[in-house]
Amino acid sequence: MARLEGKVAIITGAGSGQGAEEARLFAKEGAKVVATDIQEEKVKAVADEINAQYEGAAIAMKHDVTDERVWQTVIEEAVAKFGKVDILINNAGIGGAEGFGKIDDVDLAGWERFMTVNATSNFLGIKSVVPEMRKNGKGSIVNISSMAGIVGGAAGVHYTASKGATRLLTKGAAVELGSDNIRVNSVHPGFINTPMTSVVLDNPEMKATALKDIPLGIVGEPEDVAYLVLFLASDEARFITGSEYIIDGGQTAR
Ligand code: NAP
Repeated sequence: MARLEGKVAIITGAGSGQGAEEARLFAKEGAKVVATDIQEEKVKAVADEINAQYEGAAIAMKHDVTDERVWQTVIEEAVAKFGKVDILINNAGIGGAEGFGKIDDVDLAGWERFMTVNATSNFLGIKSVVPEMRKNGKGSIVNISSMAGIVGGAAGVHYTASKGATRLLTKGAAVELGSDNIRVNSVHPGFINTPMTSVVLDNPEMKATALKDIPLGIVGEPEDVAYLVLFLASDEARFITGSEYIIDGGQTAR
């Protein structure tokens, strides 16, 4: 049997990079996918691609994860189209060149934007989806943090703080929601080859410097993260909650 047969998953930031790959893999493994992103055209293209292969497996929605009202709309639409919500992947985030900015260059507005998009939105997602998961008697939430949520120096302090907040939001929610059989875990990628890291990976010198810090000597691909997220989302991980999973080629093991 497919690993997510009969499951309904909301995946944010699914128009690009890791979220898009998770949407494809989840559909391949039997899930119905509500793929959302602030980039409407991109997420529609991902859903169209999925539906061409697995008819009716995906819908696309424009969704700014910082907007609480839109979260309600997304969940209502998921239930209207697919009947329930089993899985939430809080994947949408910002980083890029700005995410590597130094303390002297980050102003209050920049700090608040990173905290809102990368951390507060995950709280909104959890708060919005939990009532629906309680109706099913179970659920799995995966928050995409970063290796920068575990150690300092991997990115700017604003990005690092937002991902650290996500790490402990995960543990707090896991403890609180365990009695509802709702599991909450965090994933901490290192360097993954997506548009977010192109500022480093498209620059040969910066890429070579980055690779020196990675024991496996390669960067990860979106598919690598998607397989870990798939496992945590599935019932195979039924005894796992409040845990953090690093996927970084060994970078933080030093
Ligand atoms: P990506 O390719 O840039 O995808 C992120 C998607 O989220 C983009 O489509 C982005 O749109 C969207 N988004 C941004 N703000 C949003 C908002 N307010 N509401 C809804 N969607 C929004 O990046 P990725 O690498 O796949 O990143 C996925 C997650 O992994 C992020 O949380 C990121 O912080 C985390 N992560 C990435 C790496 C890495 O090496 N790539 C490492 C550690 C953690 P825009 O293009 O308009 O911003």
